[in-house]
Amino acid sequence: MLQQVNGHSSVSDAQGGESFREDLQEFLSGEAPLHQLDDLTKVNPVTLETVLRCLQARYMADTFYTNAGCTLVALNPFKPVPQLYSPELMREYHAAPQPQKLKPHIFTVGEQTYRNVKSLIEPVNQSIIVSGESGAGKTWTSRCLMKFYAVVAASPTSWDSHKIAERIEQRILNSNPVMEAFGNACTLRNNNSSRFGKFIQLQLNSAQQMTGAAVQTYLLEKTRVACQASSERNFHIFYQMCKGASADERLQWHLPKGAAFSWLPNSERTLEEDCFEVTREAMLHLGIETPTQNNVFKVLAGLLHLGNIRFADSEDEAQPCQLMDDAKCSVRTSALLLLLPEDPLLETLRIRTIRAGRQQQVFRKPCSRAECDTRRDCLAKLVYSRLFDWLVSVINSSICADPSSWSTFIGLLDVYGFESFPHNSLEQLCINYANEKLQQHFVAHYLRAQQEEYTVEGLEWSFVNYQDNQTCLDLIEGSPLSICSLINEECRLNRPSSAAQLQTRIESALAGRPCLGHNKLSREPSFIVVHYAGPVRYHTAGLVEKNKDPIPPELTRLLQQSQDPVLKVLFPTDPEEKSQEEQGQSRAPVLTVVSKFKASLEQLLQVLHRTTPHYIRCIKPNGQGQAQTFLREEVLSQLEACGLVETIHISAAGFPIRVSHQNFVERYELLRRLRPRTSPGPCSLSLDEGRSEWSPHTEEAALQPLLQDILRTLPALTQAAAIP
Ligand code: ATP
Ligand code: MG
Repeated sequence: MLQQVNGHSSVSDAQGGESFREDLQEFLSGEAPLHQLDDLTKVNPVTLETVLRCLQARYMADTFYTNAGCTLVALNPFKPVPQLYSPELMREYHAAPQPQKLKPHIFTVGEQTYRNVKSLIEPVNQSIIVSGESGAGKTWTSRCLMKFYAVVAASPTSWDSHKIAERIEQRILNSNPVMEAFGNACTLRNNNSSRFGKFIQLQLNSAQQMTGAAVQTYLLEKTRVACQASSERNFHIFYQMCKGASADERLQWHLPKGAAFSWLPNSERTLEEDCFEVTREAMLHLGIETPTQNNVFKVLAGLLHLGNIRFADSEDEAQPCQLMDDAKCSVRTSALLLLLPEDPLLETLRIRTIRAGRQQQVFRKPCSRAECDTRRDCLAKLVYSRLFDWLVSVINSSICADPSSWSTFIGLLDVYGFESFPHNSLEQLCINYANEKLQQHFVAHYLRAQQEEYTVEGLEWSFVNYQDNQTCLDLIEGSPLSICSLINEECRLNRPSSAAQLQTRIESALAGRPCLGHNKLSREPSFIVVHYAGPVRYHTAGLVEKNKDPIPPELTRLLQQSQDPVLKVLFPTDPEEKSQEEQGQSRAPVLTVVSKFKASLEQLLQVLHRTTPHYIRCIKPNGQGQAQTFLREEVLSQLEACGLVETIHISAAGFPIRVSHQNFVERYELLRRLRPRTSPGPCSLSLDEGRSEWSPHTEEAALQPLLQDILRTLPALTQAAAIP
């Protein structure tokens, strides 16, 4: 049993700084060295510094997992540690009578979650929320957890089955390489960075066997297909194809060895992720047969050739832009691979059609060079994002169990962490908005868990004030006025408005909101949101356009003409839509990016609210991906950004110092004999009457700094500890 001392502020305020805290920690705990502390809540006192030191000591001792109350902190080892993820270890955690007594591990979380589903009379769905910044290990962790469940929740025969490839667990695992090939890319921060968010629901039957799974994805970064930051790459699948295609396939897909594609930068380096065979094999196991695969790759090759189309400025505005000399071949090859008629392809890229008037007369306007480029990129983004969604739906139909065959689920959430770059736009706004939502969910859950512990401990407790991030969420998504509503309104009004006008509109309409930062010293139009993880400046240039994400209808109409079997599925002709268009009826209003994202986020949170959540916070010990390197500043900023600091602050508002009852009695036994004088001065001591054998002079001198502090917290100490 733990006794807890409500007096964190007095401890951290105590004079003497660092060395005093160290002394106090040693004195209070008299416990194991830092690297042996399995739970950060046992670090005394709980401060950012002590937490950091503990994590550092553990990392250097090759201990990568540490509990932090209801959260597991996972440090990225940045080196292979196969023994940490072996099937034997999985079974050990699974078979342990009390897995929480084993060393902290993602398998403890996995097993606890699994038992929660199993042990309750009324089964409760569970979720594991994996967070952290790019490269911290979220996807790795989710993958390991999926493998864990594939072992412990498999039907009994599968453990020694030779036909494992056909098994549902294996199919579920096969979804990873496919989704990563199409949705991950090499970035500056991670060679295998997920460019989409993912929630996978592992479905369990009444015998707790995994019978299927369902995947939901969020906000694929589709711009990457046509635009990659310097030193970054396109999605892995393009490189896999170009490197791994057979001679025959190269011929079919017009990918001669050494061909240069402008949408394929940095292809000289080969990464571990560039394994075409693995993707193809996994696709096959998911039921995507070779001919369909070939069609998919043919379409992708078509996009690569599309990216090589270059336009020249037109001297006469009334004339469409000319093609650059070497681009003619690219148009032809692209049209050939996408099975599109060549002339309409070129026309769609270069000429905008506008329908106007009662008769819906069609006007044709040649596009500027920049507009042609935008239309080309838009075409690629449209095809790629629909292809990705189609893949997800195919994966789902391959792995999703019949609703009657499962009763509970464990959800794994692998979403992008909080982002703050020198230039932030709509993507970061959405990502950080999602993180605010998840943080709110976390805080609410953490507080509940903590209060339950206090109740078990029999402590008197009324929890009221904690820092909620509702005000920040109100600023971003609230109604009637918020950043989202204002950006959406600009889209709806469809009026030309500059970046500066949007900034002014946001600042005036939302003036006085606590989380809207003071926007000074900015040369570019922008606004600042003070997130729980820190302030972020969002640039307003292009924000409205990105939110509209306009797709010229001519592009969709063009793609509907394709004879390619994959494109036919991705762009079906909707007879109703066609007849509406012919009759001049306007289309249904298209949802903005923000509105769609908000809706999917709300749906996700509804699901999460119906589960018991578990949290894994992944931390990247350094930005270079080096083993055995723990950079304190970098970890510190992640501890802040992932909200662990918030959690510590919440602890500070409660009972952050936890001393075992026995330790407490041993250490403070002498206090029984002390009582503060009512005067003079705060640190005077006197002996209890009848206890004259105790000599204050020797002991008091040694303990003076400590006693000063203790005296300030004496009422709480004596109240909290029932000294025998
Ligand atoms: P992003 O947000 O960019 O998708 P992420 O948090 O998903 O990043 P991962 O791709 O999971 O990051 O991890 C980055 C890399 O770190 C992995 O490719 C792997 O090399 C290494 N890594 C992560 N976790 C571990 C681990 N437990 N053991 C060994 N290596 C790891
Ligand atoms: Mg990832």
